[in-house]
Amino acid sequence: MSDYAITEYDDQPMSAWEFRYLYLREGVEYENFFCPYCDIKLCAYLIYVDGEGVRSPYFSARWERHKFGCDGKAIYVDASVKKVATAYYGTHELDFPEALTARPPTHKIKTKTIKSQSLNLSNAEVFERRKKAGLLGRPVSKTYLLQPIVEMYNSVWADGYKKVDENVWNANNRVSMTTNILSGMPILLEDKTEYNEAFRSPLFLDKYRCRIYHGHGFVHVFPNGFILTSEKSARVEGQTYTFKIKIYEALINNDSPMSHLALFEALASYAMNKTAIRWYAYGTPSLVEDIYELLVINLDYLYIKKPFQKK
Ligand SMILES: [Zn+2]
Repeated sequence: MSDYAITEYDDQPMSAWEFRYLYLREGVEYENFFCPYCDIKLCAYLIYVDGEGVRSPYFSARWERHKFGCDGKAIYVDASVKKVATAYYGTHELDFPEALTARPPTHKIKTKTIKSQSLNLSNAEVFERRKKAGLLGRPVSKTYLLQPIVEMYNSVWADGYKKVDENVWNANNRVSMTTNILSGMPILLEDKTEYNEAFRSPLFLDKYRCRIYHGHGFVHVFPNGFILTSEKSARVEGQTYTFKIKIYEALINNDSPMSHLALFEALASYAMNKTAIRWYAYGTPSLVEDIYELLVINLDYLYIKKPFQKK
């Protein structure tokens, strides 16, 4: 398994998470990936999939082995960080997004000439490349979209149910075991926290810090955009309030990425059909006329799970 890959269009190594982000947000799909150190062709797994229940995307040497002493990874000088989740997951599954950050400038496929493959590689040259990459520090898997973080969170919960079915876990311990794993998965929001603390029901509202709220509700249209309702109320200092998510139409313009336009179309259709939805939104709710309102400031920070038919 490789930490980074490059394409024939660009020498800039990117992680599998970054390529997934480009796909989800911009619909950018690459066909060929290469090892940034020894130049062999890599196979991309789980990057170009739609929907949830997926593990972390990753690259692997499928058609030939890495060459010149390369193992697909940079050489790091710092000690590796031990995570609780290590005990439960295999190597590639451990690579979860560890930071939600603001989006970088739009990354467009460059039409420049195709990168020429190095012909005179040697063990020494490959070693130097890996060491140079490692000196930049251990990569933090960043995402600019909320969706991959939600997918990872949900897949850890789904895994818990599976472990109970397979008699690996006792059903009574499922919740505590799952929250224990999530607590061992660091994530950088505005502050350093972990997955279990980052995800909130409005019942455990945090007035001061940005958190990822999740719940069920419906979509309503208001003159300037959409409002998402919440089945659960907000609880703040012992008081109960209505909780809502507000999305202004002004977030959309002619330069909006396709994922944003698609999200607005979906919201309009959910509103019209009175579809029950599951929503995830990142932000800090504030009190507006006796209602706790989470204002969506960036559509990358809103994820609506496609509704499914109950059997
Ligand atoms: Zn390699």
